[in-house]
Amino acid sequence: MAAELNAIVTHRIEVASGLIILRVTPDGWELPEWESGQFAVLGLFGSAERTMLSDPASKDNDPTKLIRRAYSIASSPDEKSYLEFYVTLVQSGRLTPRLFALKPGARVFLGKKITGMFTLDDVPEGNNLVLIGTGTGLAPYMSMLRNKLECHIELHTVVLLGARHSWDLGYRGELIAMQRYCPTFHYFPVISRPNEEIVKWSGQSGYVQDLWDRGLVEASMGSKPTPENTHVLLCGNPAMIEGMIENLKVEGFAEGTRKEPGQIHAEKYW
Ligand SMILES: Cc1cc2nc3c(=O)[nH]c(=O)nc-3n(C[C@H](O)[C@H](O)[C@H](O)COP(=O)(O)OP(=O)(O)OC[C@H]3O[C@@H](n4cnc5c(N)ncnc54)[C@H](O)[C@@H]3O)c2cc1C
Repeated sequence: MAAELNAIVTHRIEVASGLIILRVTPDGWELPEWESGQFAVLGLFGSAERTMLSDPASKDNDPTKLIRRAYSIASSPDEKSYLEFYVTLVQSGRLTPRLFALKPGARVFLGKKITGMFTLDDVPEGNNLVLIGTGTGLAPYMSMLRNKLECHIELHTVVLLGARHSWDLGYRGELIAMQRYCPTFHYFPVISRPNEEIVKWSGQSGYVQDLWDRGLVEASMGSKPTPENTHVLLCGNPAMIEGMIENLKVEGFAEGTRKEPGQIHAEKYW
């Protein structure tokens, strides 16, 4: 059984309750080449301990069965020794309660194949990029930004990120630093429960869709984002993605398909 747990947790950062960053290093094998935006598979056996923060296991807990799930990679492909993941706890879930119980040094299954179409391959050069996510939907963007953020004079990169609370805004310091060093990089976090903040929140409240409707992207870029000059990436909660696609279609943006390229690219987490 242990042979299948082919990787080791080397780093665990608790961002907030129910939100962790995990670094995982292959044990005795090399990571393949991969691209920012892609995902890998993590897994643990049903026998693995669940975090106390989760609901008790209800069903489907065969101790010998490997539970596997897809996770976008947050680290840069330049980093050859580990993969970084940004994971939210689903309290009733099967894998995340077990991932949350892992400590540095613990063994975990890491799929040797890294795959996915949610990359910048279909974004032609010369476009502004709007990266919209909810919660851990930020992970693929962190990889893209860490690997490929170029500070253009005219082209803009805008990150719109939704979370419940300010303390759930992972990677905030890194994104603020990017914004400080690059005048054409803009980071707009938005929280949906401002009344639960410990200290009054002076930033944006609501949902990421509201940020688009409030014209923040246009204001930061200095001109209206159009299908001719902008590509939009959407990642995370399916309801957010569907809502944004509807809004964007009204403005002339089209969803990319295998046959027809478009300016909207989406990755739903469930
Ligand atoms: C391509 C891809 C990339 C992904 N990348 C990430 C990532 O970077 N970080 C991450 O935390 N998750 C990511 N996910 C989701 C992940 O694969 C799992 O579905 C999630 O961790 C829940 O697993 P679980 O076994 O604990 O829950 P399960 O027992 O599989 O239960 C899942 C159910 O929980 C509910 N749910 C509530 N919140 C979420 C949520 N955030 N994600 C999924 N289901 C949720 C849904 O109703 C879903 O049907 C990704 C999914 C896909 C398809």
